[in-house]
Amino acid sequence: MNLTEASFDVVSIGVDIGGTKTLGLALTGSGEILVQETRPTPQNSDQIVECVATLFHSLANQLRTYRVSALGIGVAGLVDKNGQLHRAPNLADADGLKLQRSIEPLIDVPVYVDNDANCAARAELIRGAARNVEQALLVTLGTGIGGAVISDGKVARGAEGMAGEPGHMLVDPNGPICACGMQGCWESYASGTGLVNLATQAVSAGRLSAIVEDVGGEVEKITGEHVTAAARKGDEEAIRVIDAYSWWVAVGLANCAALIDPEIIILGGGLIEEWELWGPRVRTAFDQLLIGASQRATVRIEPAAAGELAGAVGAALLAASEAVG
Ligand SMILES: [Zn+2]
Repeated sequence: MNLTEASFDVVSIGVDIGGTKTLGLALTGSGEILVQETRPTPQNSDQIVECVATLFHSLANQLRTYRVSALGIGVAGLVDKNGQLHRAPNLADADGLKLQRSIEPLIDVPVYVDNDANCAARAELIRGAARNVEQALLVTLGTGIGGAVISDGKVARGAEGMAGEPGHMLVDPNGPICACGMQGCWESYASGTGLVNLATQAVSAGRLSAIVEDVGGEVEKITGEHVTAAARKGDEEAIRVIDAYSWWVAVGLANCAALIDPEIIILGGGLIEEWELWGPRVRTAFDQLLIGASQRATVRIEPAAAGELAGAVGAALLAASEAVG
């Protein structure tokens, strides 16, 4: 790190509250990450508030020669512009949590909150795949699906702050029940959970026998990793599931592209580790599904550049930009 005390003495802290883990880091004005820490995400509102405040203090205590200007929080769920979490399908018992109002009294700097994918999009805009891009879509494929729309070079938040939730577009009214309670959301097919749903359907149809044997017949133990590992080894039944998964990913991306006409679609989240396996399949299916694909400029589809820290980095960037007004 090439840091000089004089020019980089102010930092912002970003915290990304995900479905399973909460990651915090401190970011300098030049974009250097000074410290970072990860903790398991607690499952109720009071514990989440305590976890974020404790994480903030732990990070701040390691930054003795720096001044922390603000805390930014990215959280998986519907967040309004007042920092209240309205719906978080992948966090139990956190709906309605007033994050900003609850945490601000516990720390001594301003707090700003946004959806985690919106935060990740900020990281991509500044230091990732969306640099110099006016119109883009970011989709994170993890336990659930997150999304962000970049319009005119900025993250579009919508009327109340809840724009960019492609995971809960209905793509199959007869599909599986989603974590949000609806039936047949895109997330039920194209997230990590969706991959398991597709594998379970294949097992019900008498396929994936090698994986069923691996888990000793306990079908509920089948994970997405079982499917991707088997596909990599050439298991044709697993490859069929990956084909189906890729098609469903492309369905949602083509729907979004028809609506917002992006220059680039940036894909992040845990599933991106298997990008080489399913990325080319998504490309092919997307070009078949998007209206006028052969008559319009090719929409670039690329993995996120900022990696798994993108949400926390973007939260810190949000805090830094809001703190200076
Ligand atoms: Zn849903």
